[in-house]
Amino acid sequence: MKKEKVLNLLKRKNVKPSVQRMEILNYIVENKNHPSVDEIYSHLNKKIATLSKTTIYNTLKILCKKNILTEILIEEDEVRFDYMEKPHIHFKCKSCNKIYDVFKKCPLINCKKIEGHKIEEYHIYLIGTCKNCYKDD
Ligand SMILES: [Zn+2]
Ligand SMILES: [Zn+2]
Repeated sequence: MKKEKVLNLLKRKNVKPSVQRMEILNYIVENKNHPSVDEIYSHLNKKIATLSKTTIYNTLKILCKKNILTEILIEEDEVRFDYMEKPHIHFKCKSCNKIYDVFKKCPLINCKKIEGHKIEEYHIYLIGTCKNCYKDD
């Protein structure tokens, strides 16, 4: 993503665009692999020596609160982050642990209310074997 685009995204959501915030957001937008904090850290650490994991945690918290990013919680001990330009659901492969974006329309994703309850967040995911790991016998 162009620097300008990242900058505008932050400005639009009233987030102060520091260099570190821009680098973190850019990394997640560019890498559609749903990185964890550790992955973000090990990648950006080479680029920004002063970057700490705390800064990453705090930045991600802000970006999620502003609905720029979303947390994906498939395993309890592993939080990953995703840029939700278009609403989508996730498919996690049990064999290779990869998380795929699935853009097939899920009827629930457009629901604002369900049986009288107001929906505010969606955490929809599927678990199975991906097409690269699945082999026909
Ligand atoms: Zn797989
Ligand atoms: Zn995704």
